[in-house]
Amino acid sequence: MISVEEALEKILGYVEVLKPERKPILDCLGQVLAEDVYSTIDIPPLDNSAMDGYALRAEDTRGASESSPRHLVVVGEIAAGSMPTKEVKPGTAIRIMTGAPLPEGADAVVRFEDTDEGSRRPSRGDLSHIGILCQAKKGLNVRCRGEDIARGDLILKKGQVLRPQEIGVLASLGHSTALVIRRPIVAILATGDELIGVDQPLAPGKIYDSNTYTIAAEVSRYGGIPKILGIGRDSVQSLTEKIDEGLDADMLITSGGVSKGDYDIVKDVLAEHGEISFWTVCMKPGKPLAFGIIKKMAGRKKRKVPHLGLPGNPVSSMITFEQFARPAILKMMGRKMLAKPAIRAIIKNDIADNDGRRLFVRVMVTRRGGQYYAYVTGPQGSGILTSMVKANGLAIIPESSQGVKAGDMVEVQMLDWVEEQGEAKTVPIVSIAGKSESGKTVLMEQLIAEFKKRGYKIAAVKHSHGGMEIDHQGKDSWRFSQAGSDAVCVSSPDKLAVIKNVDHDLSIEEILPIIGPEFDIILFEGFKKSRMPKIEVHRKELGSDLLCSPEELSAIVTDGSLDTPIADSCKLSVFRWGDTVAVADFIEKNFVGAAS
Ligand code: AMP
Ligand code: MG
Repeated sequence: MISVEEALEKILGYVEVLKPERKPILDCLGQVLAEDVYSTIDIPPLDNSAMDGYALRAEDTRGASESSPRHLVVVGEIAAGSMPTKEVKPGTAIRIMTGAPLPEGADAVVRFEDTDEGSRRPSRGDLSHIGILCQAKKGLNVRCRGEDIARGDLILKKGQVLRPQEIGVLASLGHSTALVIRRPIVAILATGDELIGVDQPLAPGKIYDSNTYTIAAEVSRYGGIPKILGIGRDSVQSLTEKIDEGLDADMLITSGGVSKGDYDIVKDVLAEHGEISFWTVCMKPGKPLAFGIIKKMAGRKKRKVPHLGLPGNPVSSMITFEQFARPAILKMMGRKMLAKPAIRAIIKNDIADNDGRRLFVRVMVTRRGGQYYAYVTGPQGSGILTSMVKANGLAIIPESSQGVKAGDMVEVQMLDWVEEQGEAKTVPIVSIAGKSESGKTVLMEQLIAEFKKRGYKIAAVKHSHGGMEIDHQGKDSWRFSQAGSDAVCVSSPDKLAVIKNVDHDLSIEEILPIIGPEFDIILFEGFKKSRMPKIEVHRKELGSDLLCSPEELSAIVTDGSLDTPIADSCKLSVFRWGDTVAVADFIEKNFVGAAS
């Protein structure tokens, strides 16, 4: 058995970077630039306005304010795309649009909002003058010639991958084409007597050929050009004919016929035409793999085509494609970064022993509170292609591992980026605010008990203005932090406390990831300045006014009169002190349901 790395190294040793070609920039997405690109122009080509407003001399606005506008004579107007014909002399201004060249004499632009134009226009007032309501510094709202790109600058380097922004930069320099490393043509051949094409009726004993489509889509996805050869039968003649059709490609990928069955003859056919190695790769799925160089075929001139023989099982062929074909395609395209991006995630299921091979486990990764979690997508049979549909990553369990337990950290190779799945769940949060001694803590206690009764997993956060109760002098945790530790954790069989030194009063956004994502609701006591949903506890003996402004509140719990006029004016929900069930219902209905 050889390792995944050894197999990859051998394969990459045989594939070469392809030659460059010049083509229209829009066809170059994802390709590698094969030349340095210098600019022959300045961008922007002239000083111009960054705002719709008035071009003027900054010194003419000295001391201007809303209460004491400076009035200037408007001597003209310039739209983007035209050249100024007038100069801005002292005491004058020119109306100017975003992108229009700055007229001679002007050194600043004051936007419409900072002039009195808004009040002149509707009243059809005098537009031959304009009142400037703010003092402008030289250069205000002016984009200088060459501030983005200066003539002669090296803008894009050879070897750079062209993304939409690089393609846009090429266009901004006036280039309609670029010199890029050619895309590889990858011939794809499915093999097996049981396979039929997707346009045929399904006959007994047959299955549709899916590998051709998975592999072709992967080739396109990573920038290659698939050339579909169709289905080769399990006979020397059929396979020879089909492979022959693929020999003008840059690479040949076959699927099936490389294991030990009676009809696995791809290897025999290939052995006859070139060098071929059969490997048992130390991975699961995907153990059998063939790789070789096809050197000659009947009636063809000598040509070396790398051949990758993937296993037939749909999941195995896809996973081996990701590990071996993808890097080979990227190398041919001139790319330097060949590894699939990986993250570290907490695995949510146990994974049993891997009999000494590297396991690639299909998982769905989600992100909550800044942490990645990986969920195994169900049965892992190498024929179950729908398990790939449910997955966005492959958890990698190393050869040396004895299996992993739920909660362990694992490496996950991302098939798709996790953003595509979005945040799986945001934990609803509610703050209980109120004046000191209003009974916030009592309401928190009652709500916690009520939500526990309803089966919720609940976290409560208390803002402590004084010190930390669990961090008292003499306690071990206190001694550790006195000794200089920036964080102290106290872990017991059923509880965990983390005491971290922080350099500022943390916001709820900073606190949430530390609490973790596993709760159904988080109640905060206090935090009256944050923007989370708030419920204020109001006590009539502490005054009729509220602590928070009513627009910020979702509800009030009060022992005062239920028809508080403030509440009425803001359509706030008002609950009677003690009616905790109603408050919990309100939170459940408005926040818990809305967040999941
Ligand atoms: P093989 O490696 O040829 O023994 O094939 C292993 C398994 O993969 C068999 O169950 C095949 O039917 C299946 N298989 C092979 N090629 C394809 C394909 N192109 N599409 C779907 N299944 C395939
Ligand atoms: Mg077969």
